[in-house]
Amino acid sequence: MIRATVAIPCTGCRYCVEASHCPKNILIPNYFNLFNTKKIATWDMFSPETEYYENYLAQGYGKASDCIRCHSCEKVCPQHIRISEWMREVAKEMEEEEA
Ligand code: SF4
Ligand code: SF4
Repeated sequence: MIRATVAIPCTGCRYCVEASHCPKNILIPNYFNLFNTKKIATWDMFSPETEYYENYLAQGYGKASDCIRCHSCEKVCPQHIRISEWMREVAKEMEEEEA
């Protein structure tokens, strides 16, 4: 059976974090990569992706839920990814267990 291997078609080109400046300092491609990896995990008893995500936050990067939907990143994304919409999904996936 073929399963979807990538939820968000991000190529990791990093234009969105290099050519534009997210006012919330959100590490877009890294979060998308963690989200995709978590989505294809075959078991979810332990999720290293959540730990990686929290490590980024500890380094001072913005949370996915901090996205203010300014669309600055979307203007430079060659894949035309609706980044701000996906950020809501990333927040649900990665932040749901936070207090
Ligand atoms: S839409 Fe969200 S992720 Fe994109 S630049 Fe604006 S605040 Fe950052
Ligand atoms: S610009 Fe688009 S494809 Fe490139 S890293 Fe950002 S979200 Fe991914």
